[in-house]
Amino acid sequence: MDFSNLNKKTAKSFNDQKALIKKVMAGRTVPCPVCKGPLVLHPPGSANPGIRCAKGCTDIALEFD
Ligand SMILES: [Zn+2]
Repeated sequence: MDFSNLNKKTAKSFNDQKALIKKVMAGRTVPCPVCKGPLVLHPPGSANPGIRCAKGCTDIALEFD
């Protein structure tokens, strides 16, 4: 297994997620990359903060330090 390649993919995915989170938190409508449904922001303080689509293929947990 080529771990350097795996790490690159993970880093790209992480950066993609950060860009996506920024857009959603700015109030923009961002489609789920998988199902194209709109991503919904569950804000900090809600039961399970994160960014999700209705179908659950995008499920990004938000962590606030
Ligand atoms: Zn989806």
